[in-house]
Amino acid sequence: MDDTKTNLIGLSRDQLIAEMAQIGEKPFRAKQLWHWMYNRGETDFAKMTSISKSMHGALAERYVVRRPQVTRELTSTDTTRKWLLKFDDGHEAETVYIPDADEDRGAVCISTQVGCTLTCRFCHTGTQLLVRNLSAAEIVGQFMVARDSYGEWPTPDDGGRRLSNIVVMGMGEPLYNFENVATALEIAMDGEGIGISRRRITLSTSGVVPMMKECGERLGVNLAISLHAVTDEIRDRIMPINKKYPLAELMRACREYPGASNARRITFEYIMLKGVNDSAADARALLKLVKGLPAKFNLIPFNPWPGSEFETPDIRTTKAFSDILQDAGYSAPIRMPRGRDILAACGQLRSESQRERASLSKARAAAGIEDGHHG
Ligand code: SAH
Ligand code: SF4
Repeated sequence: MDDTKTNLIGLSRDQLIAEMAQIGEKPFRAKQLWHWMYNRGETDFAKMTSISKSMHGALAERYVVRRPQVTRELTSTDTTRKWLLKFDDGHEAETVYIPDADEDRGAVCISTQVGCTLTCRFCHTGTQLLVRNLSAAEIVGQFMVARDSYGEWPTPDDGGRRLSNIVVMGMGEPLYNFENVATALEIAMDGEGIGISRRRITLSTSGVVPMMKECGERLGVNLAISLHAVTDEIRDRIMPINKKYPLAELMRACREYPGASNARRITFEYIMLKGVNDSAADARALLKLVKGLPAKFNLIPFNPWPGSEFETPDIRTTKAFSDILQDAGYSAPIRMPRGRDILAACGQLRSESQRERASLSKARAAAGIEDGHHG
């Protein structure tokens, strides 16, 4: 690894053009590089055959095309796959590929921060200090690692690939790192490169109200809201961000989200917490809350972690909750944990690597580096 060189991954198209201008190269060079990096997945300048040999050396002198380092790869018996990644400064995150039920395609779940400043009470990530924002290169690099692993370069024209979707549902709050997230997703959506359509990308937020409009206008991706409660009283208690942006404001921002329609509904994620938010009355209040909105639901049984204060309701309770929403005409699947055997389900990420390194990690754990991630 060479820290003196600039990584070309993660630069926007305009930034790449500007970078090439600095070494006296025309915008066309940036276009060529873009194709090699994001359509072909190439990391070696010497193999970029449409670029002249003399240019290879000039590029390699100043630049690299680099992914986060994969320190471990695990595949579940249910074919969920997980990569433990290490960034240049030693910080780590995990990226997970979650196949659909039919297993022909699926979503890559990516993280946006190491840790999270929000302290949702049910979330393992929320128990640690924020370490830092991930860069655009580290965010789009997570998807590129997944494509490397599945051998899906070059980008096929017809979309015939397994890694068909992106969910921004890993560690961190994406709307607190919006510029880097936006740059990374714009790279992923670019039709001359990775080419994942905005319709196949879903960004999940805990409800950073002032950033939601810009997210919709600039990126136009699908929106998911971590709702998890139907009253301010309960939401304040389990998600402190609610004190800043209470439910009425959050729901107003959802109503105004650009591009939401009956064909592109807002997903409301709802963690089932035993005795806290899981009653039939809660389900009916939820219906009231989203009235008139193009909504669908995702019910997530709480995934316990060591020291968590909540319990998972029994499946009958969760099923009854789902039935109330479905009887009112909404989609409300219960999201069953995937990849349990490789600890890739919500609330389980990072915990294995944590245990393995427990003896080495006192100082790092104090900085919150080794602690959980859910996805
Ligand atoms: N910070 C953003 C993006 C993370 S999305 C957000 O909160 O929306 C990750 C999803 O997993 C969120 O809906 C989160 O609430 C949920 N989650 C967190 N901890 C969980 C746990 N222990 N069990 C089940 N779901 C959990
Ligand atoms: Fe952060 Fe989302 Fe976890 Fe809340 S649920 S602590 S916002 S990652």
